[in-house]
Amino acid sequence: MYDLSIKNNLSHAYLLVSPNARQVEEEAKLAMQLLLCEQPNQDHTPCHLCSSCLRLASDNHPAVTYLTPEGASLKIAQMRAAMKQDRFGHRFGDRTIIVVTRTETMTVEAATSVLKWVEEPHQDRLFLLLTSSAMMVLPTLRSRCTTLTLSQSYTKNALNDLFASFGYDLREERSIRILQAAQQLYEALAHQREDLWHFPVDTLIKWSESSDFSVLFQLMMGYCRDAIAVQVGNRPYFYEDTKAFAQLASHLGIKRWSELALLFGDLGKRMRAHVNGLTALEAALFKVSE
Ligand SMILES: [Zn+2]
Repeated sequence: MYDLSIKNNLSHAYLLVSPNARQVEEEAKLAMQLLLCEQPNQDHTPCHLCSSCLRLASDNHPAVTYLTPEGASLKIAQMRAAMKQDRFGHRFGDRTIIVVTRTETMTVEAATSVLKWVEEPHQDRLFLLLTSSAMMVLPTLRSRCTTLTLSQSYTKNALNDLFASFGYDLREERSIRILQAAQQLYEALAHQREDLWHFPVDTLIKWSESSDFSVLFQLMMGYCRDAIAVQVGNRPYFYEDTKAFAQLASHLGIKRWSELALLFGDLGKRMRAHVNGLTALEAALFKVSE
């Protein structure tokens, strides 16, 4: 979709499909930021800083109309109101985007009422129909859209879930710090270089929250298991599926990664007994370097 928009070859109606409702909404938002960003980066990604990007992020962009289910379904009255509003739009030649969330909840009457609207290409109007299941969308409506099935952003969801289970938000600064420390530690372990541990450990000294260490140890256990997964040809779960990761994973054997996974699992358990996270980590790192 992003490539298409760069070539100015955008279709006028898309059905975006992902079983993960949150993911499909995030992707739609990102696509709109890309289309409407006032100062995109050189690699065509949205800047996330301009007023357009910020308004999209807060669901408050004048060019975007959201149609969301009222109660259990998207109803014909909502569709009629939106179509009426749309007829009065386009006065300034601005692009408008109509986002329908949970399209599968459209009543048959509602879906039938929008067929003509969706079908008719308009250079300044884009439809983004979001759904968790393409099969549950009325076939006549589906056939008027270009269907895009989003690949599951595996890593992002797994990380989100892990951080959320400790009450952390992945976008917070402390979460980013934990992620960085974990990646540095993983690299240091793969290289078996004691001197590389000091960097993440130095960062950790500045932390006060023991819960930070709980998340870190859980994530490290995940990374060690991921290292085993890629060696047996599976996809990593927590780490980005990159060449660099796979290469680092191959530095140590499966047995060694298993030992490390156990070690971090054990550290995580000890955090529940209120040990000092940093002391526990240092002791563990000295043990593995022997
Ligand atoms: Zn922007």
